[in-house]
Amino acid sequence: MWWLMSVVMAAEIQADLHLDTPTQLVNRNVGLDGAGLEGGLGPLVTGGTNVAVMVIWPPRTGDWTARVEQMFSKIEAEDKRLDSVVLARSPAEALAAAEAGMVAMVVALEGAHGIDRTGIPGLQALHARGLRMLGLTWSMSNRYAGSSGDGGGGLTADGRALVAEANRLGVILDVSHASSATTLEVCSLSTDPVVASHSNTAAVKPHPRNLTDDEIRCIASKGGVIGVNFHRPFVGGSGDVSAIADHIDHLKKVGGFTCIALGSDYDGLITPITGVGDASKLPVLWEELRRRGYTDAELRAIKGENFMRVWNVVAG
Ligand SMILES: [Zn+2]
Repeated sequence: MWWLMSVVMAAEIQADLHLDTPTQLVNRNVGLDGAGLEGGLGPLVTGGTNVAVMVIWPPRTGDWTARVEQMFSKIEAEDKRLDSVVLARSPAEALAAAEAGMVAMVVALEGAHGIDRTGIPGLQALHARGLRMLGLTWSMSNRYAGSSGDGGGGLTADGRALVAEANRLGVILDVSHASSATTLEVCSLSTDPVVASHSNTAAVKPHPRNLTDDEIRCIASKGGVIGVNFHRPFVGGSGDVSAIADHIDHLKKVGGFTCIALGSDYDGLITPITGVGDASKLPVLWEELRRRGYTDAELRAIKGENFMRVWNVVAG
């Protein structure tokens, strides 16, 4: 009964929705298999992550178009160079990679200022190359949307057009870093589920980067997910793994376990949480959740099934 075996043997998906590793690859001129990376190939494989959202981050100033090109080229080069990673353009490609014991890279852009000079044709060009997730803002408001980093407002007319185009293309919209007004507007305007790739809960740790209960409910009710972030100022509390689990407990209470995912922010110059300093340590978090009574089904959902559900809807 090979088909039954194939079901039983199906790889468990573990997705990290936000890895800033490409920034470190470019800055340090190293490969994904290089040493000293929190989200490098070694730690990802050791810790069980097989769907890795690799983030292109255009910094606050500079030639964003050139930087995006440089970072995307680096990801493409690693895809070609390493047998054990693959740039995945669809949920099916990511699943196939995971089944084969490889790491699927999903390419994301953190901040639509990265396409500021090219607009929607720029998004279309990046999508054609494999971009599958778009963060509307980074820490500053841009021509599309307001950011939580500077008290920005909601979507602009250009931003509403960008949301519609992302929906049309099948690009996952990411509201981490966006203002509350932007988050709620995107959530109601988008015809697809949206994600907050690397944000925590404001109820547990008040911070402009964390989500209010209204925002959590909005994302959850659309079928989206929230990736919990490991940066200590966004986690608060004891600064260890139990503090991350407190955010997960709150997400479960407000939005249900189907809205929870992981978005560590590794290699984003974070001050990591004690005990989970790099991607190899993620089992420590799953153990803490098990200790708190999370079931195997809930853990599978949080680890990766919730995100794959979102991607399937957006891609379909
Ligand atoms: Zn970020």
